[in-house]
Amino acid sequence: MTFADLVLINGNIITMNPKQPKAQATAIKHDKIVEVGTNHEIKPWINKNTKIIDLKGKTVVPGFIDTHAHMLGFGRSLTTIDLRGTTSIKEIQQKLKEEIQKTPKGKWIFGHGWDQERFKEKRYPTRWDLDQSAPDNPVTLRRVCGHICAINTKALKLANITKQTKPPPGGEIDKEPQTGEPTGILRENAMDLIQKVTPKPDENELMEACVLACQKAVKAGLTGVHWIIDSPTEISIIQKLRAQGKLPVRVYILVPVEFLDHLIELGLQTGFGDNTAKIGCIKILADGSLGARTAALKEPYSDQPNNKGMMLYTPKELKRLVIKAHKAGFQLAIHAIGDHAVEIVLDALENALSRVSREDHRHRIEHASVLNGKAVQRMRKLNLIASVQPHFIVSDFWAGDRVGSERARWAYPFKTLIKEGVTVAGGSDCPVEPINPLLGIQAAVAREAFPEERVAVDEALSVYTVNAAYASFEDDVKGSIEVGKLADLVVLSENPLTVESDKIKDIEVKMTIVGGRVVYCEV
Ligand SMILES: [Zn+2]
Repeated sequence: MTFADLVLINGNIITMNPKQPKAQATAIKHDKIVEVGTNHEIKPWINKNTKIIDLKGKTVVPGFIDTHAHMLGFGRSLTTIDLRGTTSIKEIQQKLKEEIQKTPKGKWIFGHGWDQERFKEKRYPTRWDLDQSAPDNPVTLRRVCGHICAINTKALKLANITKQTKPPPGGEIDKEPQTGEPTGILRENAMDLIQKVTPKPDENELMEACVLACQKAVKAGLTGVHWIIDSPTEISIIQKLRAQGKLPVRVYILVPVEFLDHLIELGLQTGFGDNTAKIGCIKILADGSLGARTAALKEPYSDQPNNKGMMLYTPKELKRLVIKAHKAGFQLAIHAIGDHAVEIVLDALENALSRVSREDHRHRIEHASVLNGKAVQRMRKLNLIASVQPHFIVSDFWAGDRVGSERARWAYPFKTLIKEGVTVAGGSDCPVEPINPLLGIQAAVAREAFPEERVAVDEALSVYTVNAAYASFEDDVKGSIEVGKLADLVVLSENPLTVESDKIKDIEVKMTIVGGRVVYCEV
């Protein structure tokens, strides 16, 4: 008889295993679960070396998994000006002024999270607005969606953006209608112009940012994240953090399609790695965001009748990339927000799947925000995963203005997706949205508009556990609390299945366990 390293007793364990939905206790040996049952059934696993945690009736759920997180961006956002929730351009100017006071002249200032929809002024901030507070420091402030940024005159000069500058493909430089002067607003690929001239943080700064992001993640009850990288540096950071014992979460790496050829040359495929870190999907951006009115819609924006958003690839180019990645054995994660983008992505995936069949591809559409009945049916038929971020329902309160009431019915239709048999996996899109999965669960469960699209709490839990594990081909090793699976668990202050639905967001994470190790514990 072997004994357990760790047992949890006197708990209210929600296993997410339909064969044994509830339990009182669980035993863990090394990094795996060896028993799930009553206190009595756990007893034989205990000897003098076994650590015992008395849960005192607290609720335990499988560790949450976030299927869409920009971890470096998140970490960096924790160290730049947080403009989320600002309600006027004046307030932004005020925050900039405060920052200037602690910043040496000439040093770059970064901020993120503004949303002009919340502004009293109901317009984008301009370079001239920013110049008033920051005449001598280059400033880059990203919109909450990450698809638009506002920069000041100093930054425009450093990037050499003038009246004459043409935007790169898939990007836009806003210009004053009368004078043709750039206003300081850069959209989509035009942001590369500023990225090129911004000083690159050194690797230590980046590592620190990632450590910070991981700590926040486990504090929020996450035991796994699907980590969207921007550059190869992030893979080496993940590896270093792991070697230094500073990687508390499991990582499924989503690699931008720009690196597809390199991965193919190396013979890598989805799934390479181990339970701590592995190569996940190839990530492709098909369109922009609703907030920035760059998400590609079939019909024009209701609040901007001459605009249908923009695709970042031609349909032909998208098809080519999709089949290339699919053929090479990669799982795809394609960002598509507008209904037009979703349709073009479905065409590309349908084409790839009909030409090169693969039994278990688990290709994903990221966001899949504006759908319609036909798109949902096609997603089901192609066995696609909807990788959604329920908290957008709360933040994109203006989505109805963008798409009008008829299409709004089809924005974030989670219940319909689930009912029609599409696997829905959940994430945050952090730092666009907060990392806390309980906020996402509450948003999905307690949405105000279109209550017919509310999902049940247990469905929402699946979205962040079993379904999220499925979305990385790992449902056989995690996502539920059952014998043989990895011991990834979260202890919660309350039971999400029984608290009032508007109180789910207030549930506290008391403890997070990854592979049998306590990686976070509230003191
Ligand atoms: Zn994202």
